Amino acid sequence: MSETLVRSSTTQEVVQELRRRTQFVMVSHLKPDGDTLGAGLALGLALKSLGKKVVYFQEGEVPRNLRFLPEADLVTNKLPADLAKDALFVFGDMSNMARAGEALPKLERANVLDIDHHLGNEHFGAFNYVIEDECSTGTCVLRLLKELGAKITPEIATCLLTTIMTDTGGFIHSNTTAEVLRTAAWLVDLGAEKERITEEVFTSKRFEAQKLLGAVLSRAVLDDAGRYCWAVIDQKLIDELGADYEDTEDIVNQLLAVEGVEVAALFKDFEGAVRVSLRSSGRVNVQAVASRVGGGGHFRASGLTYPGNLQEAIAGVHSALYAEGL
Ligand code: 5GP
Ligand code: MN
Repeated sequence: MSETLVRSSTTQEVVQELRRRTQFVMVSHLKPDGDTLGAGLALGLALKSLGKKVVYFQEGEVPRNLRFLPEADLVTNKLPADLAKDALFVFGDMSNMARAGEALPKLERANVLDIDHHLGNEHFGAFNYVIEDECSTGTCVLRLLKELGAKITPEIATCLLTTIMTDTGGFIHSNTTAEVLRTAAWLVDLGAEKERITEEVFTSKRFEAQKLLGAVLSRAVLDDAGRYCWAVIDQKLIDELGADYEDTEDIVNQLLAVEGVEVAALFKDFEGAVRVSLRSSGRVNVQAVASRVGGGGHFRASGLTYPGNLQEAIAGVHSALYAEGL
């Protein structure tokens, strides 16, 4: 309901709140990516340099390819017993609170700051710093750091450059504007470890992941006169190859890379749920598609957990795609 939507907070309002509080919990979303983790770590590092206490909360594990991030070893799924009553919970890179999982205690809205760049963010905090035009949540955080006057150390620069490189697909997606490239260059000048990020996030895949990519591509289906490419990863395939969820992350982009394809979908039917990743080349709004079936995201990249079995997910997503103009 739009009338309950809390308005966006200004940069100054958020910074005032960051100055006022003494303890923070940086919350990242389930199946964390470089943006949700990098943004939380960057802000946490800056707040610590101002003498604040910071906890990094993640319900699951830090993925293997993001463990190089500064302070990633401090990410935990436990809150300290002596957490201040007015600790500020900072949710980064998620359109609603449910994306953080189920392990957090019930929070008072007054203690929630929502920093994000997704379309359709639900403004679930008392403070909502949502900038849809930003390429990443990390660059939203960068605006706050500039206003805070925080020093951008090489560690913070590495976290922020990771958020940019993750969410632009390594400077490939259409959100890679000239300004984003200038910001990235500035972060490299400040000591961001560009080569390390490239290697960890993009160019050192597990053998299991590459074999999974091969298997998925060889099973992929081209439908709708070549405009829709989709594939399934099931438990059997995962078990045969010794792969896991982290090995699936980049595969949907390869389905979209097929010539003429406008929408790609990858159905991940294992670990007891059907997760779906959607990607668009720019005509069909896959955020709108995902939100028809319980998910969300961006115009060109979205995701969801389908409320049903694999066959229902394949049919349901197909209908939602037609409804959005495929
Ligand atoms: P991925 O396909 O990489 O899991 O997700 C692509 C995009 O969709 C990301 O921006 C992610 O935040 C968003 N997304 C993925 N899964 C969900 C979901 O279950 N709910 C919502 N609201 N967004 C999601
Ligand atoms: Mn993001």
